[in-house]
Amino acid sequence: MLANLHEQYPLREFNTFGVEAQARWFCRVRSAEDLAVLAADPRLAGLPRLVLGGGSNLLLTRDFDGLAIKVEVPGVRELGEAGDAWHVEVGAGEQWHATVERMLAMGRPGLENLALIPGSCGAAPVQNIGAYGLELAQRFASLVAWDFASQRVVRMPASACAFGYRDSAFKHALAGCRLILSVTLALPKRWCPVEGYADLARELQERGVVRPDARAVFDAVVAIRRRKLPDPAVVGNAGSFFKNPIVSREEHQALIARYPSLVGYPQAGGRVKLAAGWLIEAVGMKGATRGRAGIYERQALVLVNRGGATGAEILALAREVQDKVAEAFGVRLEPEPVIV
Ligand SMILES: Cc1cc2nc3c(=O)[nH]c(=O)nc-3n(C[C@H](O)[C@H](O)[C@H](O)COP(=O)(O)OP(=O)(O)OC[C@H]3O[C@@H](n4cnc5c(N)ncnc54)[C@H](O)[C@@H]3O)c2cc1C
Repeated sequence: MLANLHEQYPLREFNTFGVEAQARWFCRVRSAEDLAVLAADPRLAGLPRLVLGGGSNLLLTRDFDGLAIKVEVPGVRELGEAGDAWHVEVGAGEQWHATVERMLAMGRPGLENLALIPGSCGAAPVQNIGAYGLELAQRFASLVAWDFASQRVVRMPASACAFGYRDSAFKHALAGCRLILSVTLALPKRWCPVEGYADLARELQERGVVRPDARAVFDAVVAIRRRKLPDPAVVGNAGSFFKNPIVSREEHQALIARYPSLVGYPQAGGRVKLAAGWLIEAVGMKGATRGRAGIYERQALVLVNRGGATGAEILALAREVQDKVAEAFGVRLEPEPVIV
């Protein structure tokens, strides 16, 4: 039996929206051995599980009648060279941003575009975190996970993770089936900046940086994010609440004919990714408030807890946004956070 298994445990400090909810059972795990002990506990047999990292991509809409497992696997280990990359294994419980900084300090750049994303390293593959022109999948070698069904540790290469835009197998076929224990990052031996993303290119230009090194990219990303996004320690939120929808060329042409200022980014195969923030602003919901839930004034993609909101209130606001955007543009916005 694990010493830190608790009953009726508050989850407020484990979700960055800061909503109140309780888990019937709660436990912190640091290793596969801890998970084996949990698996053998008859009180927990057959209960639904909720794996928790930093709770920054999660909306809790009610109490959780099962076992919440907070992942705290520590450690950072250099594994050496493999082809054109350095491999570094990080424990799932390590904080993502601290790991980005640490890699820079170790002379292993490559993650700097993903600076300041809250949460844990173990959750990074779940939605294939991405920002400023880079996705985790581009810096990923493999991961090690606990498989709940077989009660075994398994190694998964990228091909088994089905990475997509803010997406992976952990949100679909493997949802709730595996707990990620560690992630092996592949950091380029020949580093070159990823600076094509418009906001980042502009920031670097304004800073007078012509040939950025990794530290310059890191500093620019941190500065942009601090300006644009609310700090969850101050205002409860989970970052972008909606994915940018991807539409066909024909749908895009029909929309642009009606809305010439529509913002879209061309994708492979002629499809176009629309800026969800633009759509939300266009239906007049930027800065909206419904009860204690709201939409951030500076970034329409971010839903916020204005103080004491329930998860259900935030979800109701999200549904209103989805309905209004669907009605106006015929496009259904998909939530990015996991809704429990
Ligand atoms: C201000 C702000 C800005 C953000 N910006 C970005 C951004 O630019 N790009 C981006 O991609 N995301 C962004 N996010 C979302 C979020 O930070 C990331 O998705 C992050 O990876 C979530 O990590 P977490 O540890 O908090 O995960 P949690 O919220 O705890 O969990 C998210 C999901 O992953 C599962 N999970 C967590 N840990 C594990 C594990 N070890 N094994 C298996 N499943 C696990 C959970 O069960 C849940 O389904 C932002 C969030 C905030 C609050």
